Formats: sequence, C-alpha cells, structure tokens
Amino acid sequence: RTTFDVEAVRRDFPILSQQVNGKPLVYLDNGASAQKPEAVLNAMDRYYREMHSNVHRGAHTLGDRATAAFEGARETVRSFLNAESTREIIWTRGTTEAINLVANGLAPRLKAGDEILVSHMEHHANIVPWQMIAERTGAKVVPVQVTPDGELDLESFSSLLNEKTRVLAITHVSNVLGTVNPVAALIEQAKAHGIITLVDGAQAVPHYQPDVQALGCDFYVFSSHKLFGPTGIGVLYGKAQLLEEIPPYQGGGEMIERVSFERTTWNTLPYKFEAGTPAIAEAVGLGAAIDYLNGLDRAGMEAAEAALLERANQLVETVPGMEIIGTAKQKVPVMSFKIAGLHPSDIGTLLDQQGIAIRTGHHCAMPLMDFYGVPGTARASFAFYNTLDEVDTLFTALQKVQRLFA
Ligand code: PMP
Repeated sequence: RTTFDVEAVRRDFPILSQQVNGKPLVYLDNGASAQKPEAVLNAMDRYYREMHSNVHRGAHTLGDRATAAFEGARETVRSFLNAESTREIIWTRGTTEAINLVANGLAPRLKAGDEILVSHMEHHANIVPWQMIAERTGAKVVPVQVTPDGELDLESFSSLLNEKTRVLAITHVSNVLGTVNPVAALIEQAKAHGIITLVDGAQAVPHYQPDVQALGCDFYVFSSHKLFGPTGIGVLYGKAQLLEEIPPYQGGGEMIERVSFERTTWNTLPYKFEAGTPAIAEAVGLGAAIDYLNGLDRAGMEAAEAALLERANQLVETVPGMEIIGTAKQKVPVMSFKIAGLHPSDIGTLLDQQGIAIRTGHHCAMPLMDFYGVPGTARASFAFYNTLDEVDTLFTALQKVQRLFA
C-alpha cells in the first residue's frame, strides 16, 4: 500500500498554489526546470542566516559549520547515486559543465580518427562539447540512430561500436521523448570494447534513483534544478581512478596542493576539479532536495507518475489532429506532441493564457527535430506533484485550442 499522497506533497511546494493569468497554475514544464519544496528554501535560508562563510578554510566556527553542511550535502549525493566514495562526487554548475569537464579531461586521450558515440536524441549539452573536442583532436562524433517510435536503435548501436570508438556519451532519458534508454546494457557492451562511458542523467534523476555502481558507467551527470533543488549547481560522478587520471578542468584556488612558479601540483579528489569558491548554499539546497525525496514513498511516486502518463495517453484521441512524438515502451511522464494546423508556439501561448505552463520549441535537441522533420514540438513534462486533474485540465484546454484555432 502506498503512502504517497499527491495533495500533501503539493502543499510542500509553495509556488504551485498560485493563480497565473487568472487560473490555477498547472505547471507542466518540469523537464526544463522543476519547482522547489519548502524544505529546500528553508535549508538555503537557514544556511545563510546561521552558517555562511567560505568553506575549507578551517579558521573559525562559521567556516567549520559551512564546511560541514557543504560536505554533508556531498555525502547525501554520494548515497543518492550509490557511489563508492565522496571523492567521486564533483560539484559543477550543472549537467552542461559536467559534460564539458569530462570532454576536456578526455581530450588528451583522443586522436585523429577516434570515435565518440552519442545518440540522435541527445540534448545539445551532450553533443556540442564533444564536437568541440573532436575539432581539437581530429576525433569524430558519431550518432546512434533512433527508431520512429523514439527508441534507441540497438542494431545501429551495435553496428557502430568498433575499435575506433573511445567514448560512449548517452542520455539516460530523452528530454524530448521521455524515452528511457537501456543504459545498463549499452554500458556493458561498451565496456567489453574498453570504451569510456558517460550517462547524461539530467532527465532521469527526477523520476528514478540511479545506482552508478550497478550501471557500471564511468561518469554520470545531472543538474540540481531538475531534481527539485536550486539552479547553479550540478553533479559529476566519476570513477575515482579515471578522475585521478584526467587533468583538471579549471585552475585557481582550492584545486591545488601547492603552487610555485616552478611547479604547481593538484589537490586530491574531489577538490582537484573544484576551482574557486563553490556554490555552497546551492549544494546545501540540493542535499535538502534529496533528503526530501528520500522521505517520499518512491514506489508510490513512480506509480503515480506512470498513472499521469497513462491518463495523458488515453486522452490523446480526444484532441483531433493531435499526435505524440515518442511512443517508446519505456517512458517517463514526458509528452512531446503536435496538433495538425497549429504551430507549437501558438499552443504554448494559448495554454499559458489558461494558466498552463508547457514548453515549446526545439528543446535543445535540433538533430532530433530534424529526424522527425519538425521545427519544434509542444512538450508537457510532469513531475510527481502533478495530478490527474491537471492532466484533464491540459486536455480540456487542448480541445478548446484545437476547436478555436486549428
Ligand atoms: N541533458 C539533458 C537530457 C537535459 O534535459 C538538459 C536540460 N534541458 C541538459 C542536459 C542540460 O542541463 P543544464 O542546462 O542544467 O546544464
């Protein structure tokens, strides 16, 4: 029996109980950024009121408090991902910076003709950094194909793996389609070829708790702001041995052991990759978000999310000309769609007038838009705090939009 209670959960998110354009807010843009529970707001407020100072300076009590809170959050993230050690948890600005860090770190290992395998459904954040490294090294970025249903084409994947493949960088969940990729199986195949693997978990962590040791990936990255935490911070998980081997990404304070004009040496993990004063309150906020999630009934939450997607799928036929893009068997509650005769941005504007927030456009996945032959889609992306009533409200609004404008 589930103890997950969506109405109780909604009361934890103050932003949700407001009116937008005269209507109760229906927030269905969680894929772009999720809302924050009171617990996160309070943790950050309390941090600034009671313990703020710079970290790792050790000279006074506030510094010790700030360091304890900051490093405590790192341990919370370690436990969330089931990483072996906090040495493997690097704070970054987000998914984007984490991928740039890894791409730059791996650059010295790449040479002309090497291949970096990504997929056709990647976010630009998992394409462009690799292209920049490819440009520098002469390596090539090769995309695994996607099926019309929006699943990864596993035959394409197998056929593209070869002795030139050095890196597999793949999204766990597609931000456009909601597809959950079989990353464990892909990693296993890649490992058999000695390939370094990175998983973009930005859209996975709001729905699942990944186990990086079970997955066996070398790197796993995500952003706090999609996991109900603050903006400005994210996580790079990396296997300690690889992190030891790759060079630092940025230079400055904190990431060094000793500096002299003759020779500078690097700090130990994880600090080697954390140049400068970090986002301390944001780390504390992310820790609070994970603590909050740990207090929810996970199985109940996942069942509730599956019910949202099921209801949405059932209602598609009530909107003439509506078509879902991405009908994979394994999906999180993310729904990209088009409606015949309507431009996606008009759908977004008309829904906004009714208090409903969705996202429209290319979703930072232009190659995928090209694959489907569309300039963009409308996307409703749900979180565990969305209700079945909100799904109904969305579809009632879509029916109205379709009647009046298509
Ligand atoms: N990868 C995926 C799959 C995403 O959905 C996003 C955010 N839309 C990113 C990467 C980039 O995340 P951020 O902008 O927080 O760095």
